[in-house]
Amino acid sequence: MTDLSPLPPGTRIGILGGGQLGRMLSLAASQLGMRTHIFCPDTESPAFEVTPHKTVASYDDEAALEAFAREVDVVTYEFENVPLGTAAALEKHVPVFPGPKALAVSQDRLAEKAFLTGAGVPVAPHKAVTTRESLDAAIAEVGLPAVLKTTRLGYDGKGQRILRTPADADPAFAEIGGVDLVLEAFIPFEREVSVIVARGKDGSCVTYDVAENVHKNHILKTSTLPAALDAATARAAADAAKTIAAALGYVGVMGVEFFVVENGGRSTLLVNEIAPRVHNSGHWTQAVCVTDQFENHIRAICGWPLGDTTRFADVVMENLIGDEIHAVAETLAPAAQPHVYGKTEARPGRKMGHVNRVTPKK
Ligand code: AMP
Repeated sequence: MTDLSPLPPGTRIGILGGGQLGRMLSLAASQLGMRTHIFCPDTESPAFEVTPHKTVASYDDEAALEAFAREVDVVTYEFENVPLGTAAALEKHVPVFPGPKALAVSQDRLAEKAFLTGAGVPVAPHKAVTTRESLDAAIAEVGLPAVLKTTRLGYDGKGQRILRTPADADPAFAEIGGVDLVLEAFIPFEREVSVIVARGKDGSCVTYDVAENVHKNHILKTSTLPAALDAATARAAADAAKTIAAALGYVGVMGVEFFVVENGGRSTLLVNEIAPRVHNSGHWTQAVCVTDQFENHIRAICGWPLGDTTRFADVVMENLIGDEIHAVAETLAPAAQPHVYGKTEARPGRKMGHVNRVTPKK
């Protein structure tokens, strides 16, 4: 039985991963009087600057994991590719939220699609691909254009190739084959949207408003609220996110990304991906909600009641990528809320910060 009593201020929260999400989780935790301990192999982790405790070790260092587990009361993570063995080793000593099912499902695109389909949530038509021959069979079934993806370890468009004609199959397979793949139908979506959902240990569940997301070079550039979506479709997206969270027995905050497809004047939704963590397309909640996604994640894993997700203003979240971070102060309007992650090197394509630009609700 899960213990439902709220963990008190002073609780020691272990966080696997020291990027900007770990950093913002740590800030939210300290606001509630919790003390974070960040575990990350990278000595230069931006989260290390804002945490009282840290461990620099690799995720398969059993001795370091055991020592870490002894130092904390609950463990969470900021990225979905936490090795399952790491989560399992920690779980012997300390509760880990979200649980192993969410990790296992979100680490493998095929497992994710099977799980979503089983939960009654539609996904793009797809087929598993292991060999060059099975790619031909998948093309025959799924059709072209299509997107060939590695089932594991893909993010920001990495490990993906678009196939427009049969002649694209050879080079695409040569480039990313050799590991398990999935061929997905190319979805001519109208827009991409996402929902941030938070679920407590007691099964209580809240969602934030639907965000409309624009990607540039496969990296999220803006999330805009409100999304250009009719009320019924927005409700359907929120319901799907709640269904997924409940089916996973989820505890914490999760991001669910959708394609919106127009079909004879009607909008339908397909889930592209779920992320068992706080999500970049939920950063806008910091500026226009009483309880942002980071605080709700900490509340959920500590057994606190979930906070209000009402959106009090319109907002556009813009990611600052690479060199864009250098102009953050000069380009700041009064109603803009900057977040700078403190990363030392502004490499091209690297998320360095974001700005939430707030306008009155229309
Ligand atoms: P993913 O890594 O699966 O989130 O894909 C990254 C981006 O590639 C998505 O946000 C879409 O813009 C695009 N994309 C991925 N899969 C498809 C698809 N099946 N059809 C059309 N666009 C896609």
